[in-house]
Amino acid sequence: MNQKIRETYRQLAQSTGLSMDEQTGVLHGQYGGYQLLIAPYVFRGNTYYYTPSISVAACSASHMLSKAEGKAYKKERRNVSLFQEENRLLTLTLKNCKNADKFCAITVEELRNLTSWLRMNGYENCCQMCGKLTQTAAYYVSGFYSQLCPDCAQNVSQNAVLSRQQENVKKESLIGGIVGALLGSLLGVLSIIILSQLGYIAALSGVLMAICTLKGYELLGQKLSTRGIVICCVLMLLMTYFGDRLDWAILVSREFAVGIGLAYQSVPLLLSEGVIIASSYWGNLALVYLFVLLGAVPTILNILKNRENAGKIFQLQ
Ligand SMILES: [Zn+2]
Repeated sequence: MNQKIRETYRQLAQSTGLSMDEQTGVLHGQYGGYQLLIAPYVFRGNTYYYTPSISVAACSASHMLSKAEGKAYKKERRNVSLFQEENRLLTLTLKNCKNADKFCAITVEELRNLTSWLRMNGYENCCQMCGKLTQTAAYYVSGFYSQLCPDCAQNVSQNAVLSRQQENVKKESLIGGIVGALLGSLLGVLSIIILSQLGYIAALSGVLMAICTLKGYELLGQKLSTRGIVICCVLMLLMTYFGDRLDWAILVSREFAVGIGLAYQSVPLLLSEGVIIASSYWGNLALVYLFVLLGAVPTILNILKNRENAGKIFQLQ
């Protein structure tokens, strides 16, 4: 969270009376009789700071927010982009607004609407995990914000310590990892060939190559270490070259009615003789590499981020 965004959230904290957690910039506390939390909206790993999401852990004996009702609520209020209830968590997401004053005014207005709606429908604060109607506190749990009762908070932290220990004890199997990555990258090769034979050089095949290779390593290697990621990257580079050349070989073997092995071997010769046009060969290869890169970078960043967040738990201050 940069300084400007932080100031916007601080301003919102002042006008709502909520506390701001200095570490994360997230707001939490009591508003209109409800314990709630305001955090930036996160979608597919991206954080949208100017799109605030209000969440309340609450349940009602007489009411359950349906999808249709959530849609109707949104339709009535032009600043709301999403309203839903899922596993005792009600989430109200607002539309993007970059002007700090407007951001605060709209959020306060929607907070009022939300809390009166909750009251009207008989909602009471509860623990997000066990559903007990009791005093809760806001926690950061492995990349998510939760409102937990003291018992659940303690359980969650104990479990996190345990799973971290298990993770540390778990040994990476290098051989298994390499076999898994190899099998995964073969799936990637297959997708390059199939999609290309259908007439596409698709970004999808690059993404599949990256995900299949990394997941293959993790599945058979038990654990994906940084060393594993490097091995996967090398494999991806080699197998993408192999896949692309095999794709040309299929073309050559069909065109000249020769076996696929011979066709594969003769690709460099055909290139130097100009039978395969060099610019289209290398251009095609570069494009496939670009797509692998587009698939691999977000996947690897996601893995690293999840690893960093896993088992990270603290109470918001
Ligand atoms: Zn609980």
